[in-house]
Amino acid sequence: MTRNQKPASSIQHQASRSRPFIIPIFLPHAGCPHQCIFCNQFSITGAKYEAVEPDKIRIQIREFLKFKKENRKPVQIAFFGGNFLGLKREEIKSCLGLAAEFVSQGLVDGIRFSTRPDTIDKGHLDILENYPVATVELGVQSMDDQVLVMAGRGHSASDTIRAVEALKDRQLGIGLQMMVGLPGDNEALSLITAEKITALRPDFVRIYPTIVMKNSRLARWYQNGTYAPLSLAEAVTRVKNLYQFFSLHNIKIIRMGLQASEDFEDGQTVLAGPYHPAFGHLVYSEVFLDKVVKEIETATLITDSISIGVNPKNISKLRGIQNRNIRILKEKFGFESIEVRADYALKEDQLTVSSHL
Ligand code: SF4
Repeated sequence: MTRNQKPASSIQHQASRSRPFIIPIFLPHAGCPHQCIFCNQFSITGAKYEAVEPDKIRIQIREFLKFKKENRKPVQIAFFGGNFLGLKREEIKSCLGLAAEFVSQGLVDGIRFSTRPDTIDKGHLDILENYPVATVELGVQSMDDQVLVMAGRGHSASDTIRAVEALKDRQLGIGLQMMVGLPGDNEALSLITAEKITALRPDFVRIYPTIVMKNSRLARWYQNGTYAPLSLAEAVTRVKNLYQFFSLHNIKIIRMGLQASEDFEDGQTVLAGPYHPAFGHLVYSEVFLDKVVKEIETATLITDSISIGVNPKNISKLRGIQNRNIRILKEKFGFESIEVRADYALKEDQLTVSSHL
C-alpha cells in the first residue's frame, strides 16, 4: 500500500480533534552517525538495539493495540529513539513495511518516525512514497549553528530549513523538536530558535530541557565543571516563555519535558539537570499563575478572600503541584483565603477572579 493509494495517511495529520494513539517502537541510537553530546538513548529507553527485528516489533505493536480505546484517533506506529532514516535502506523498508501491514488491516492509520534533518533527501523521500507515512519528526534542537556545533549534532540550521521544505513538498506532517539549556544556548537564542521554527510552520513542536544523562559526553562536561545545567525553575520558566510564544503563533505544542519513566526516578539514568516526572504540568501551572496574577492586578477586589473560576480541566494546573500557586498568591497579595471553583462555562484558557463574599 502506498502513501498515494491511501488517503487516510494524509487526512490524519490534518487533524482529527480526538487524541492520537501512538504506538512507540524504540530503536535506541538506530541509524545515528555518532552520539550527540546530550544523548544516551539506551538510558532513556531502557532498551538495547542491535538490528531491526520485524517479528519482535510486530508483537510489540499487537500488544500495544490491546490498550487502544475506541475514542483514540488517529492510531500511528512511531519509530523513535534514533535517527530513523539513518538506518540501512533495507531496514527502513522492513520497518515501514511491517507497519504498513497494520495499516492495510485497518488497525492503524499511519506511520511516524523521528530522524535528523540531514537525512531528508530525495532518495529517502522517494522510499517514503511507497508507505503510509503520515508524520516526520525532526530533531532540530536549536536553530543556532554555534549551539549545534557544541552539541555535536553535525548538521546546521539550514539543513532543518531545507528538510522542512522538502517534507512539505511531499505533503508530510511535520513535528519539530527543540531543546533548551544546551551548551552555548541562552534565553535569547532559544527564543530565536522558536521564531525560526515558527517561520517554518510545523504541525507541532516538542520542547525538551537538556538533562545530563549518565554516560553521555555532557556528563563528562558536567563532572569536570565545563557545563552547568539549568535549574528546574529556570527550565520551567524558559519553556513557559516558549510555550507562550508558540501558542501566540498557533503552533501546537504536544510535549514539554521527557516522558516520565521509572528509569529516571531510580538515579541510574539522570546525573543532573531539570528532570521532573511532571515537567509539562509545572510549565502549565506557571502559565496559569501568570494569568491569575494578571487578572488579580487588574480586578477590583473588595475582600481579602477571592474566588477563582476556571475550566474544570485546569483546576490542578491552576493550583500547581501541592497547591504551590495558591501559596504564592497568598504570599504575594496577602489573601486570607482563595477558593478555586470549577466553571464549565469558561474555555480552557480562561479564568475569572472575584471577591469571595
Ligand atoms: S540526539 Fe538523535 S541523532 Fe543524536 S545520538 Fe541521540 S538519537 Fe542519535
